[in-house]
Amino acid sequence: MRVTELCHNWSRCIAGPPVQQVEMPHDTPLIATIVAGLGLAFVFGALAQRFRFPPLVGYLLAGVAVGPFTPGFVADQALATELAELGIILLMFGVGLHFSLKDLMSVRAIAVPGAIVQITVATLMGMALSWAMGWSIGGGLVFGLALSVASTVVLLRALQERRLMDTERGRIAVGWLIVEDLAMVLALVLIPAFASLQTGDVAAADPLAAQFGLGLTGVLLLTFAKIGVFMAVMLLVGRRLIPWILHYIAHTGSRELFRLAVLAIALGVAFGSTKLFGVSLALGAFFAGMMLGESPLSQRAAQESLPLRDAFAVLFFVSAGMLFDPASIIREPWPLLATLFIILFGKSLAAFLIVVAFRHPVSTALTISASLAQIGEFSFILAEIGGATNLLPKAGRDLILAGAIISIMLNPLMFAALDWLLPRLERRRADVAATPAPKPAEIPVTPLTEHTIVIGYGRVGRLVGEALQQRGHAFLAVETSEDILKQLKDAGIETITGNAARSNVLRATNPSAAHALVIAIPEAFEAGQIVEQARAANPALHIVARAHSDAEVEHLRSLGADMVIMGEREIARGMIEELDTRPPDPAPELAPQRAAENVQVQA
Ligand code: AMP
Repeated sequence: MRVTELCHNWSRCIAGPPVQQVEMPHDTPLIATIVAGLGLAFVFGALAQRFRFPPLVGYLLAGVAVGPFTPGFVADQALATELAELGIILLMFGVGLHFSLKDLMSVRAIAVPGAIVQITVATLMGMALSWAMGWSIGGGLVFGLALSVASTVVLLRALQERRLMDTERGRIAVGWLIVEDLAMVLALVLIPAFASLQTGDVAAADPLAAQFGLGLTGVLLLTFAKIGVFMAVMLLVGRRLIPWILHYIAHTGSRELFRLAVLAIALGVAFGSTKLFGVSLALGAFFAGMMLGESPLSQRAAQESLPLRDAFAVLFFVSAGMLFDPASIIREPWPLLATLFIILFGKSLAAFLIVVAFRHPVSTALTISASLAQIGEFSFILAEIGGATNLLPKAGRDLILAGAIISIMLNPLMFAALDWLLPRLERRRADVAATPAPKPAEIPVTPLTEHTIVIGYGRVGRLVGEALQQRGHAFLAVETSEDILKQLKDAGIETITGNAARSNVLRATNPSAAHALVIAIPEAFEAGQIVEQARAANPALHIVARAHSDAEVEHLRSLGADMVIMGEREIARGMIEELDTRPPDPAPELAPQRAAENVQVQA
């Protein structure tokens, strides 16, 4: 088998020969693996939660428990990891859905150089360690690359749990990850090619290239060509075809078929692109999602794939846990510590410095660093390729595995440290700013008076703003989204940046001198905080708020809103009004009578 083919299934690579199974009565290894994986993940996840650890740690421990290195039941490792790959596909598909080409382009200035510099730094550190352990340069290169690339699943989970996906920090982290993924696609092809340099065996790197008598340069060109064709096909054909299929199915009105179409597209495109173009399953799925993301149905598609995605992501962690031999920690503590140091601190420090050098805030730099301080599925694949090409010694593979498991387990702690550090840093910055002079307002207060404050300039706020503009009323908008803020500034509308629920932001809108406040954000909890503060600042202010349920209406009214408009009720009202414009024909039993009346009149 081709080495590049092997790597698409990292399970097999690492697992080696299939592990001896505990016989099931009907020999149903797939069912046994799913039941044991999900069942134990549930038990361990709940226990972890109980002891205030993230459930993810429980999933990994569940994997260790059903793995071959601990006594008792041993699940089918190859099957478990193959199932986990479904998790990776669905996760990347979800990321693609949320990540438009525009987003990728908007962060390329930082993500591309950032990922490349960080991969280089981490690889060099890994090479230095391997040199100290007396391995070859090729072995060091594979080892270093494996330590440089973060796990997609772990990173996305962390961002999703913290609701960071839609923030700028989240977008940079995902863009960074995509660049890393692309770099790894290249590395996966280049490593066997370089190994073949030593042996002169091109067929090991690419049988097709060998068949046509191409040399190493040929192999490289062929790889680039395949990736290029893949992208061109996706952008030219996929971009039209995929949304078209979903629209067609959506019009059939069958929810079941729609769900099936989403799954078939995600899995089919990922698998097809792996087989046809040699890109990773994750990258194929990402592109499928991205093509679909431009369709208005993308939200629904994301929701439909959510439950399956979560289930299979859990299996990913279980299967990673299965690879871990706890005894390896005691056997070789020092190289392991050095490996962990590179993953947890070396890589993070490099990422931190790069992000800060690009003049992004410290909070962004810290989030990116914490996101990247782990390694995962790509490292497993690289470890296998390194082994198969005889570049990486077995000790290297074990170190990569142990490093991955431990860094994944510690990743939630990195984020906890971030949560602890960020407010302190912010406070210190505020203190430093406060010391020299009388405390300046963080955000200058608007000079407007008798104005209207519009909070949130999305689907609702925008319409209100346009109406105010037409009437010539003075107003300002408060927004968190940088894209919208830029549009507003371009249109010459006064804006205040930030979460309006924060007192310094709201103070800057000058509520005490304002005429009205329109709260057009969907989050009732934040809206409540805004109402409360604004009412305290100005008892005469006319406050109009947006809600989505009767309970929210009640909540906002109790805090001091004059008028709360519930979206759903207004939709119904609009529908009723529309119906009233075209009343139905008279009831059928009246119709013959009317007809008779008409005849009489005519007569
Ligand atoms: P929509 O649901 O389409 O009307 O969009 C709501 C808008 O409100 C989005 O553009 C958000 O960026 C913005 N938004 C949400 N929460 C806040 C907040 N707390 N402060 C300022 N803007 C917000």
